[in-house]
Amino acid sequence: MKDRIDGHTILIGLMAYPIRHSMSPTMHNSAFAKLGLNNAYLAFEIDNKKLPGAINAIRTLGMRGSNISMPNKQKVIPLLDKLDPVAELIGAVNTVVNDDGVLTGYTTDGTGFMKSLADEGVDIGGQKMTLAGAGGAGTAIGIQAALDGVKDISVFNIHDQTWENAERMVKIINDKTNCQAKLFDLAEKKTFKAEIAGSMIYCDATGVGMKPLADKTLVSDPSWFRPEMIVFDTVYAPRTTKLMRVAQQAGVKHVLNGLGMMLEQGAEAFKLWTGKDMPIDYIRELLF
Ligand code: NAD
Repeated sequence: MKDRIDGHTILIGLMAYPIRHSMSPTMHNSAFAKLGLNNAYLAFEIDNKKLPGAINAIRTLGMRGSNISMPNKQKVIPLLDKLDPVAELIGAVNTVVNDDGVLTGYTTDGTGFMKSLADEGVDIGGQKMTLAGAGGAGTAIGIQAALDGVKDISVFNIHDQTWENAERMVKIINDKTNCQAKLFDLAEKKTFKAEIAGSMIYCDATGVGMKPLADKTLVSDPSWFRPEMIVFDTVYAPRTTKLMRVAQQAGVKHVLNGLGMMLEQGAEAFKLWTGKDMPIDYIRELLF
């Protein structure tokens, strides 16, 4: 520690609640140490109420920035000075960068998703995606995929508090990108099956499959999948979800969990703060 923290160390934060389970502090601090960067990354338990004070502290303490996670990804926007255009379209921020007191918000979840597919040698440009879930992660995935050339996206959501967000996301995709998006009720099982059948990629961004819904899945019949397609679950704990097991039974070639996305969204934030590439292979070995 004496070689890592001194009077010049620059602080980067993570502001969310709950947050003690996060892998991000280990990921970023290991990468700083590996590259010999004099930075430290700490997690802070920050809810909506504490957020304004915490964001102001970035300026007051001269922090380089912070990651922002639930429940603060939307609430942080009016507290910042500038927004990256993609973060503005997505309507959420997961990374704040402090340039001499000017705070800019970015979102790296969507690019993290696309890069994690590229890491697997998969290109979904010009293809169709079926996406379950249009909360924070689903919106970032859907809008980034549309910006990056996915041709057609069928979004399925339940009628909960995220339905309006799903409507907004589909409208943005149709108005601002060359992709065509449609929104369906997840209760329409026949349509759900048919849309997956016509898709190159099925992505689940609902969190069904992790606690408290571990061992549950929205698709339990392997015949809904084809071997040549991609099945992506944003969940990474557990590493293999029920959905992934169903896809494996169907012989699906690319069955992916959310670890690659987690790593790549972190790498993108790391680059924004430090200007350097995160040593991804080293971190993957170390943590995963
Ligand atoms: P959120 O609360 O913003 O959205 C949840 C979405 O799931 C909504 O669309 C909601 O309607 C839907 N949903 C919730 N319960 C459901 C149910 N029982 N059946 C069907 N749909 C249901 O959450 P979020 O931040 O978007 O996170 C979603 C998942 O993505 C979580 O598992 C989270 O861990 C994961 N995630 C992963 C990464 C990564 O880097 N791998 C990044 C962000 C989020």
